[in-house]
Order: sequence, then C-alpha cells, then structure tokens
Amino acid sequence: MDPKFSINAVENNGNDIIIRFNHDITLDDISFSQERGRGTHRDIFDIKGNFKDAQSTVIKIDGIDRVIVNQQAPSVLRVSIVNSYDPNTIYIVNQRTIVLRTFPKTPQTPKETAISSSPAIQKTEFLRARTIVIDPGHGGKDPGAVIGNNHEKTAVLAVGRYLAEHLRTRGYKVLLTRDNDKYLTLKERTEFANHNHADIFISIHANAVDKQNAANARGVETYFLSPARSERAKRLAALENKDEMQSLDLSSQNALLTILNQSRITSSNKLAIDIQKYMLHEARKSHKDTVDGGVREGPFYVLVGAQMPSVLVEIGYITHPIEGKRIFETNYQKQLAKGIANGIDSYFLNNP
Ligand SMILES: [Zn+2]
Repeated sequence: MDPKFSINAVENNGNDIIIRFNHDITLDDISFSQERGRGTHRDIFDIKGNFKDAQSTVIKIDGIDRVIVNQQAPSVLRVSIVNSYDPNTIYIVNQRTIVLRTFPKTPQTPKETAISSSPAIQKTEFLRARTIVIDPGHGGKDPGAVIGNNHEKTAVLAVGRYLAEHLRTRGYKVLLTRDNDKYLTLKERTEFANHNHADIFISIHANAVDKQNAANARGVETYFLSPARSERAKRLAALENKDEMQSLDLSSQNALLTILNQSRITSSNKLAIDIQKYMLHEARKSHKDTVDGGVREGPFYVLVGAQMPSVLVEIGYITHPIEGKRIFETNYQKQLAKGIANGIDSYFLNNP
C-alpha cells in the first residue's frame, strides 16, 4: 500500500463529513455512484486512500438514516450515505480535504421527484492553494500584557506556531509575521500580508483587564475590524493599539477607518464567526468552563491596513487566575490552534 494515500482523519461537522489526507487530492481520486432500491437511496463515494480506523468510524448526521464508512479495498475508502429518500449530496475538494455535504430535506412524493431537474451532484474544486498570514501579537521589546513572568507575546507565538503546523498539514500556504521574539510595528504586519497576497490575516493576542476585574473577565473572543465603537471594543482597541495609536490624533484615527471596504468587513465577520465557533468547541473539549466571549467588532489598527479579510483572536485573559495560566499550557495552546484551523477550513469551504 502506497503510504502517500493514507487518510489522517474522518470527522463530521453538522451536515459535513470531512476526510483529511496527508497529501493533495484531486477529483480524480473520488468516484461517485448511486444505488436506488425500493425505498432506499444510497450515494456511494469511493475514495482513493487507506484509513486505519475505518471500521470503528460511526458518523451521525441529522436527517440521514445511516452513514457507513468502510475500507472497501486496501486502497479504497467507501463512504455510503443511505436514506429513505434522495440524500442530495455534494462534494468539495480543497487541497488535502474532501467534504461530503448532505442536504437533508423533507421526503418528496414521487411526482415531485420526477419534475426535479437540478442535478443531485455538483462538483467544486479549488485549484489554488490559499495563503494565510498568521500574526502573533507583540514581540521583542513589546511583551504585550504581563502577569509575573508570563508575557502575552510568548503565549501568542506558541499558538501561532501550532496553528501554522495545523494549516500546513492541511495544504495551506502559511506565513508568520514573526516566528521568534522580535518586534514589529503594526504597519509592518499588514504590509507583510499584503505583499504576500494573503487570502486571510489572523492576528493572535491575549486579553487583559485591570486588577479589580481580573477574577471576572475570562473567555475566548474573536474581533473583526469595523468602525464600531462600543465601550468594550474601544477599551480593547486602546489596549492592543496603544503602542502606536498614541502618536495619532483622533481625526487621523477616524480617517483610517473611513477607508474600510464593506465587502471585506462582511467577509471578516464571517471568518470571525467560524473561528470563534470552532475555537470554543475545541477549548471546551478539555475545559468545559471556557467562556464564549463572542464575535465582536472594533477599530483595531493592526487590521486596518490589511487588504484581505482579517481577524484578531483573543485566546483568553492573561489576568484571570485560572485562564491566565492555562493559555501558557502546551496542550491548551494546541487545542486552540486546532480550533482556529477548523474555523479557517470552514470559512474557505463556505466561501469558495
Ligand atoms: Zn495583544
């Protein structure tokens, strides 16, 4: 068995069955067939590859009777989606990932089925590898928020590196604004992303509050850039921007924000929603107490110059007595990184 066809994981997420490979795949690696028996519809995907855990894979999807995953031959993984009516599936190939998406619907009468003209299967293939720029916040002479010996710049660099690893494994092209403890201006970070024609820009930070609020403020949050000026967003923007914003008067700050592009705001908002959702999901696998700080918008200078959808992820509060320690733990950092990577996958799959 050629090891290059091994499958790393078979997962499900809502109506999606996600198959991850250790190599780039193409539509030629999948063959699709349908079987229509009395009262049973079966969509069959035969995928070139070997998955060692195939026998034990159980996939539950609402509205679908059964999903069977089995190793049909040493080099063919078969996914059968079985339903009492047409399961209506599509598949999407994105570098090292295949997504089989089901659209469960209410059963149709035979007459309605007969007049349906839309094809049951659509194909989409992304030929271009996506470029992602990861920006671990602060660095060098700027430690970010500090509690004792714990510096924000250290935790966010670790998460950024794990995130890069995850994304590269999945076939993305990944660049880091910094891969060591070096200082960069905010402008240098987005210029780097623009220069490298990044598809998305992810800035990673940890949050902080003053002492009297430290015990209560906790949780993961994802921000996207907009002119919104809620008190909470203003406070955080002031914290993350303080290194450079002091030199700009208020009218210059406002001028920067008027050049925002509405479609980029919308895309950034979608990206933020996906990242927040999956990051929280992963974090809660080991720490059920992780608080959902939600998706928020605000005037972050680090995101202003980016010419692509961009978000700022706050991985937790360094000032919280429990969470502040947790964000320096390797396992937790890896979980957060995996969650962010899943969110990015979801964003690209939904916005091809
Ligand atoms: Zn920060």
